[in-house]
Amino acid sequence: MLVPRTTPLITGERICERVRELAVQIVDEYCGEEPFIAAGLLRGCYVFMADLMREISRLGGHVRELEFMVCSSYGSSTESSRTLEIQRDLNIDVRGERVLIVDDIVDTGHTLYAVKQMLLNRGADDLNTAVLLDKPSRREVAIDADFVGFTIENLFVVGYGLDYAQRYRELPHITVLEERPEPD
Ligand code: 5GP
Ligand code: MG
Repeated sequence: MLVPRTTPLITGERICERVRELAVQIVDEYCGEEPFIAAGLLRGCYVFMADLMREISRLGGHVRELEFMVCSSYGSSTESSRTLEIQRDLNIDVRGERVLIVDDIVDTGHTLYAVKQMLLNRGADDLNTAVLLDKPSRREVAIDADFVGFTIENLFVVGYGLDYAQRYRELPHITVLEERPEPD
């Protein structure tokens, strides 16, 4: 049975602190007071996106629109299927718009790479990417996010929006999924 480890890998307090730092960096290096569209990749991005956008707003950043896409590359397994399936597209024309893609984690890189290429092909301008977590040791395509919260080892993590078979997204911290014997 796979269950979340009780000791967090990254505590909720540490995440809060880091999201604030990331917001400062994004306002300084990317948006300033220029309006931009935040394009979140559901469902994993939702907690990170909510916290990050409020911090950016507190700092005077101008989030013109919050938009979302539903893509899936994992299903209910811990192995990437390596195919990007778009289940719900953005509800906005990004041509000529400054776009910040927001995702929970960059792992093999297939998702972020495919979404980035797609939005560039649609004419998005000044496209940047922000992710909470990065697992560089798993990378299969050459892509790095412009803004990264934490770099982690090759571990499957849940919490703060990240799931295992749609569970554990509500955890306030990030923790590792581990094997535990079934109770009798
Ligand atoms: P990639 O395409 O870079 O391999 O990863 C795409 C998606 O896989 C991420 O946006 C995330 O939803 C999921 N994913 C990758 N690693 C993890 C992980 O450690 N935990 C969870 N819950 N999802 C992950
Ligand atoms: Mg995701």
